[in-house]
Amino acid sequence: MRRRSSAAAVASKRAPAPPAPLHATGNGAGDPAWAWEERRWRGAVNKVRAGRSLKPARWKNGARMCVALSFDSDHETSTLREGSTSPGRLAQGEYGARVGVPRILELLRRHDLRASFFVPGVVAALHPDEQRRVVAEGHEVAMHGWIHEGTSELTEVVERDLMRRAFDTLAKIAGRPPVGVRVPSWDFSATTLPLIRELGLLYDSSLMADDEPYELLDDGVATGIVELPVEWIKDDAPYLGMNRATAIRPYTAPSAVLEIFRAEFEGALAEGGLFVLTMHPHIIGHRSRIAILEELIRYMKGMPGVWFATHAEVARYCKATA
Ligand SMILES: [Zn+2]
Repeated sequence: MRRRSSAAAVASKRAPAPPAPLHATGNGAGDPAWAWEERRWRGAVNKVRAGRSLKPARWKNGARMCVALSFDSDHETSTLREGSTSPGRLAQGEYGARVGVPRILELLRRHDLRASFFVPGVVAALHPDEQRRVVAEGHEVAMHGWIHEGTSELTEVVERDLMRRAFDTLAKIAGRPPVGVRVPSWDFSATTLPLIRELGLLYDSSLMADDEPYELLDDGVATGIVELPVEWIKDDAPYLGMNRATAIRPYTAPSAVLEIFRAEFEGALAEGGLFVLTMHPHIIGHRSRIAILEELIRYMKGMPGVWFATHAEVARYCKATA
């Protein structure tokens, strides 16, 4: 055994190094980072950066803070994005359209709240009536990729094509052009920001450099694009996601998730800031979980001076007043 393993070790040492993978713009490629010159690591860091804070001195109508609820309607694309066509797996996402969204809309209607729905182009095409209903009930439909692709795996040409397709599809189905984007899986590439500018969007909600809104810098240049930052802490998926084939499991009890979300809200209230919450209809839409969303909404509505708004409303307000 010993001889065999040492022979295997020699063989592997002699084996030629595998060719470097062909990476697109977003991922590390080539030399290890420790070998980079300063220009390279500094350039990478400065590519997309947080500029001036856009936290307003006062929120709309004198409110103390702002709550922006968002739902990423991934539905079937959470399976399709991996190239999988398993009906068994697709059904997990279909639940989001069939049960999750109607349940969420009913909850929002009951509490008279407006929210933002980030929708991949393919989901909009699969469920056009859902998008029309979301808009008709006063909510925002915004961009969330084409088929929930991994953006940093794309070339700039492909990323542009998919963003334009997604933009046109949402504009046609929702009846108005989207003004904001949440990059799928928050996988913002080195070419995403110029493409956002090309499309003339108002805001992005994919980055994590602050709790409060800020202006995005493109290679150090102020863009006027509003960032409404997100965080995995304020997302249902890391706590409640489930994928049989991977280690993703709902390890956290809904009651514990409620506790974390409430603490994030309380922190934002204390600082007079923004609380952006990201949820997924096929995750939060289940009975045991929609209940914690309702409890959170009741709690937040019970506090004085909370402005509930869509992402587009928040971005417009911050851009105009900050
Ligand atoms: Zn998503």
